[in-house]
Amino acid sequence: MQTVKKFYYDVVICGGGPSGCAAAIAAGRSGKRAILLELRESLGGLCTNGYITGLAGVVEGIGKEWLERLDAEGHAVMKPHLPTAEPEYGKQMLEEMVLQSGTRILYGTHVVDCIKEDNKIKSVIAYTKSGKIEVEGKVFIDATGDADLALAADVPLESGNAEFCGLNQSVTMGFRLAYVNLKEYNEANAAWRKHPDFDPNDPKKRSLIVYKEHIAYQEGRLHEILSPGNIVYPMPSQDQTCMDVTLDATHTFDCHNTDVEDLTRQIVDQHRKVIWFHNFLKNDVPGFENSVLEAYAPMNGVRDSRHIIGEYLFKDTDLGAAMKFEDGIYQHTEFYDTHVPTPGFHTAHRHIHANEPVENAICRPTQDAEDYMYTPLVRPLAWEVRTDPRKYCEIPFRSLIAKGVDNLMATGRCMSAEYHAIGSIRVIGPSMGMGQAAGYGASLFIDQKLNAVRDLDGRLVRQMMIDNGVDLNNPPGGYWKTIREFEGEVVVSAGDMCEIRNSKGQTPPR
Ligand SMILES: Cc1cc2nc3c(=O)[nH]c(=O)nc-3n(C[C@H](O)[C@H](O)[C@H](O)COP(=O)(O)OP(=O)(O)OC[C@H]3O[C@@H](n4cnc5c(N)ncnc54)[C@H](O)[C@@H]3O)c2cc1C
Repeated sequence: MQTVKKFYYDVVICGGGPSGCAAAIAAGRSGKRAILLELRESLGGLCTNGYITGLAGVVEGIGKEWLERLDAEGHAVMKPHLPTAEPEYGKQMLEEMVLQSGTRILYGTHVVDCIKEDNKIKSVIAYTKSGKIEVEGKVFIDATGDADLALAADVPLESGNAEFCGLNQSVTMGFRLAYVNLKEYNEANAAWRKHPDFDPNDPKKRSLIVYKEHIAYQEGRLHEILSPGNIVYPMPSQDQTCMDVTLDATHTFDCHNTDVEDLTRQIVDQHRKVIWFHNFLKNDVPGFENSVLEAYAPMNGVRDSRHIIGEYLFKDTDLGAAMKFEDGIYQHTEFYDTHVPTPGFHTAHRHIHANEPVENAICRPTQDAEDYMYTPLVRPLAWEVRTDPRKYCEIPFRSLIAKGVDNLMATGRCMSAEYHAIGSIRVIGPSMGMGQAAGYGASLFIDQKLNAVRDLDGRLVRQMMIDNGVDLNNPPGGYWKTIREFEGEVVVSAGDMCEIRNSKGQTPPR
């Protein structure tokens, strides 16, 4: 096929998810000629098109600005933890911010290949309705989530891990329900916590939905436990008795997340599981009786796939050990969140296994029988390691720089990290923070006329984040400050997370 159009830009960003958008805005605001190439017809990736509407992690910088601008127009729910963005308005607001930064957007643009000269990418090749196009640039940012550009550029990549024989994390498609009585649901949840059967230390009894799911399963009304833990994300609404919510709940296992046939199997499986789960909610859970399935997410819920091997490979243990780096560009606070690739009672790890305790982390000896269910393919090592919610680690800028190619960075869920580290730092707060840093890194690379991004002093990128209002010199604020200051002990909860509880069993407000 002949190339029908050619474009020339300084910074070329592939993928307009939360990470790519933050990169595009940062590069544009730094005065660079930048272009954002997006496969779909709107921005926000999984955060909008995947109905993953709750932003985890520390939300600072461009991510915070996006939320605040949405909130000012009534399209966000500003909870202390997991604030929620309404996806349709969220898409439009991202579009506005990218265009206001001066960065150009091309929609319906599928990046499939690149042309390299020596160790540099000269241009990317994309398929569009116009036909084949070529976009030349000085520096490239892969924010496709699946490292599509890095694959084309022959960067070393990894997908899945040894422990699970190369399987990716389980897949969950988001969905949106209308006519939910969230007030009734919240009241039922509160009443459940006072019910004699409620047990915060029993994974089957700690949440109302999970408890009811087990009853429906025992009574033969559900073929399987579809959602052993889930969060209902409220959409902004004046009327809590009749409103929209988004959920991501059902899991498909044994996934290969860049195999077209397997992706099709996952999507078909998710479509029917969402219907099963919605029927269960309607029949069994107060507040959902009149709910209507409004939409499946238009984007499949892939948690992880290919990611680059970069100048620094962020380690699973870096998280637990609360590692700090001179070129740290993001403060990360969340727990291990690897969704188990293989079917079993548990779906989510909240810890990793190590040979020995990890400093700064919450560690305890492996509890063999139960733990074996988390990793059915191998026996876990001797120590369970959890992140301490009062501490944080930093993501180094070097983990965004692709090995072997001089002018390529990868951000968001395709950055350079080990499997369980990706499981945690893939979430939206860090994805946007990394994207912003990549945008600044691209700008500095051009200004300093460097030969390779690896020659850039990452401390300058860190400083640029600070100069733009991201306070990396002090521990994270907001919810994370509240939990640091909450008087209580760190306990391993039934959900296998570390949470802080005071002597009355209370946890900080979320
Ligand atoms: C079920 C599920 C639940 C989750 N829960 C949460 C949560 O509660 N809170 C939270 O913060 N995070 C959560 N996450 C994680 C979070 O949504 C993602 O990890 C995050 O959106 C990653 O951002 P990204 O920009 O790296 O990638 P993505 O959001 O995947 O965006 C990638 C973008 O690139 C585009 N693209 C892909 N390939 C190409 C190509 N070849 N050419 C051009 N464009 C391309 C895509 O269309 C998309 O717009 C969840 C994820 C899943 C799947």
